[in-house]
Amino acid sequence: MFDTITLDPAIRCPECGALETSHQTKEFECLMSYYRIGSVVPSPCHSGIIRDRFWCSACHDAGREAEHLLYLVIWHSVLAAVELDADEAERKLRETDRLDLIGWLADSQRESRHWQGKFRKLMSSLNAWQRHLHDKANPEPDGARSRFWSRFSSLPDEILNAPDPLDAIIKFHSKESPEDEL
Ligand SMILES: [Zn+2]
Repeated sequence: MFDTITLDPAIRCPECGALETSHQTKEFECLMSYYRIGSVVPSPCHSGIIRDRFWCSACHDAGREAEHLLYLVIWHSVLAAVELDADEAERKLRETDRLDLIGWLADSQRESRHWQGKFRKLMSSLNAWQRHLHDKANPEPDGARSRFWSRFSSLPDEILNAPDPLDAIIKFHSKESPEDEL
């Protein structure tokens, strides 16, 4: 098992120039967790540089040596940088400061709002679907109150008329719309 670090920006293989957008590491808890620059990482290293191995899938596919040295920069338990160059890793460790931390905090809060919004919309659709089923099963008199609420939040016709409305709800909420952009 391993954990995955999302590389943004991607890291360019020093051998073939291919871009890798993620890095699998065994340096943390190996629980198939995802991390990125700015994540608090479960590492015994509080502040320092961990030497790891960069794996280039393009080099591997072409039968070349696929492993290169890679450096994980940990700053106060936060993953501050992932670098192929040791000097650059040293510089990042020296120069990371509280302004970087505020940037990561802002990113993290934006991502949190994004997922909270998606969760609320999904729950709203599921509640509307449950009310719809309830109304169908209880036309009167209990349905009257439910129909009152359904005026405020009802499912679009393309979902209600779909062959499998629950599947349509899942598909609707799985797609990223422009307002979902982080
Ligand atoms: Zn390569």
